[in-house]
Amino acid sequence: MSRPALTADCGNCAALCCVALAFDRGEDFAIDKPAGTPCPNLAGHACSIHARLDATGFAGCVRYDCTGAGQRVTQDLFAGKSWQDDPALLAPMMAAFSDMRAVHRRLELLTAAEALPLAKDDAATRDRLDRALWPDALASETLAGFDHGPMAAEIDAFIASLHRYVPARRG
Ligand code: SF4
Repeated sequence: MSRPALTADCGNCAALCCVALAFDRGEDFAIDKPAGTPCPNLAGHACSIHARLDATGFAGCVRYDCTGAGQRVTQDLFAGKSWQDDPALLAPMMAAFSDMRAVHRRLELLTAAEALPLAKDDAATRDRLDRALWPDALASETLAGFDHGPMAAEIDAFIASLHRYVPARRG
């Protein structure tokens, strides 16, 4: 078991972000799109305007980063299957993607905390919380509603407690 990748691997994802996210027409997106609806620019699992995203008004897609949640859901939780082949998978994949994004946001914070000069007990707590989020297939009771669950709350409280390790800014 190792720490999940925190960088997106779109080639191993079922284009989950291109379905999950809502767009508001404006500076970042050229169209309105409700959450849970496939983007009309999707071609299979690829973006048909990938090389022209900025020029065609989709700068928001360039900036978006799932921090590895997409491929983890697709590969580890759904064994590489896609909602495109089985529409019944759309809702559970969207729910799992939303939960996994919340997991990976905490993994990013815990990874950043690794660089702090933590006291021994804080370093042990950081390791325990970090490793709890590593299993390929997180238990469904852990993943479902993760953002508002007890583990996320414990991680958030721990991260907030680390402010004493961060030097105060001057000026
Ligand atoms: S424009 Fe391309 S990258 Fe952005 S959501 Fe649509 S298919 Fe995905």
